[in-house]
Amino acid sequence: MAKEQTEHNMACMVCGTQLVYDKTSQEQECIYCGSTEASPIYCPDGHFVCDSCHSKDAIAFLELLAEVDTSTEPIDVVDKALTHPSFKFHGPEHHSLVPTAILIAMKNRGIPKTDGVQITPEVVLEGIRRGSKIPGGFCGYAGTCGACVGSGVAVALYIGSTPRSGAERKIAHAATTDAMHLSMDGLRRCCKRATYYGLTAAMNLLKKEFDIDLGAIPEVGACKYSERNRDCEHEDCIYFQKESTK
Ligand SMILES: [Zn+2]
Ligand SMILES: [Zn+2]
Repeated sequence: MAKEQTEHNMACMVCGTQLVYDKTSQEQECIYCGSTEASPIYCPDGHFVCDSCHSKDAIAFLELLAEVDTSTEPIDVVDKALTHPSFKFHGPEHHSLVPTAILIAMKNRGIPKTDGVQITPEVVLEGIRRGSKIPGGFCGYAGTCGACVGSGVAVALYIGSTPRSGAERKIAHAATTDAMHLSMDGLRRCCKRATYYGLTAAMNLLKKEFDIDLGAIPEVGACKYSERNRDCEHEDCIYFQKESTK
């Protein structure tokens, strides 16, 4: 990882200044595409980057994985994405990662959806699209977490849930609810931890309800990213590596 990327990954992607997470939104113009958006997150030096420009490269990377990746374990897809330079340390690209990882592993294992239809790259792309609709900062601003909703997105696509399918919708809600239970940790947001929660919830639900074992869930105490996270909660986070004393 380039040094510049490491230094800027928590901050304004233009100047590296720490972003302000305000309580109310203000109208801001994206310095890259010129679109205006109301957002409570801003750079004190006035650089606003919209969610789309912030995540574009990472989403393109996930779309590429949907076509070419041969992983059969979701954790391998997650590891690949979290170490890819297009992924910022925090950002809404993480909201697409859980469905990408789950659906790629199912596709590559030849596990069909509950309607018997095979999972294709198009299904994975739909998961990426749904995840990318959840704005950055939603965990603090809306009482739900985008990466946890990613668990619901993955399961909803597997079982073909729609707003009008009561039973399926309930299972998709259970996936998000299970992830949110894990997320009730009282800590500052971490998009890596949230991704692990979403992945764990989706994989446990698929195992319990559908007897689908997709391999290893994210390992407790194995986080490799603490040093890059200015907001890392260290020992309070279950994924923190205690022996990695700096
Ligand atoms: Zn800036
Ligand atoms: Zn933009």
